[in-house]
Amino acid sequence: MSTSRLANLLKNADRVLVFTGAGMSTGSGIPDFRGPQGVWKRRRPVYYDEFMTSYEARVLHWDFKLEGWLQFRDAKPNQAHLALSELDQMGRLDALVTQNIDGLHQLAGHPEGRVIELHGTNREIECQTCGKRMDPDPIFAQFERTRKPPLCECGGFLKPATISFGQAMPYDKLTGAFAAASRADLVFAIGSTLEVEPAASIPRSAKEHGALYVIINQGTTAQDHLADLRIEGDATAILPDAVDELRKLLGR
Ligand SMILES: [Zn+2]
Repeated sequence: MSTSRLANLLKNADRVLVFTGAGMSTGSGIPDFRGPQGVWKRRRPVYYDEFMTSYEARVLHWDFKLEGWLQFRDAKPNQAHLALSELDQMGRLDALVTQNIDGLHQLAGHPEGRVIELHGTNREIECQTCGKRMDPDPIFAQFERTRKPPLCECGGFLKPATISFGQAMPYDKLTGAFAAASRADLVFAIGSTLEVEPAASIPRSAKEHGALYVIINQGTTAQDHLADLRIEGDATAILPDAVDELRKLLGR
């Protein structure tokens, strides 16, 4: 049975890398933006250059972010997030890299500095000039009231701290993630279709460096052919059982 196989792999590995995608959070009510009902089927994404050069594009982007804000703000971690946090507390997790912008790994108890958020976070607003970070609630309330794209006190454009289309991923996040990939001996890709680059290169790079590769997802992924173990299904059903089993194996 795959649960006990997963637990055994986790027990025998020295450096486990976990990579998570949208499927991790659908059980928390966060929609998959790229899925069949995803937002990009009805909205045109605003590219970073447009955001920085066009007032109308900034209104459009803030309107899009406002639409999803309450759902993000009120989302709670699910059983799969909690299981990964437990794995970390058991000292069985070397690194956690996520494509998600919902901050749910941290809300599940994962220490802030130990989650590599490749695509940034929706839980903070960032000034594009001075880099100051702030709490989203009052800024969304201001935009909702005025419909004017908010500005920092320095005059810079404020933007939710997610990586926009056409915006480079933070160099330190990418290098941290690839470093974790190069030292991993076991890598899990969970809830990702593994189509978005360069993020999807991270678990693949771990595999290329010799790690055992486990893919857990509902539906096929772009890297199924590379997996040593491919589990079809929902992480919220699979991970808690695997971590329970691991705890028994470790006698805790
Ligand atoms: Zn500023």
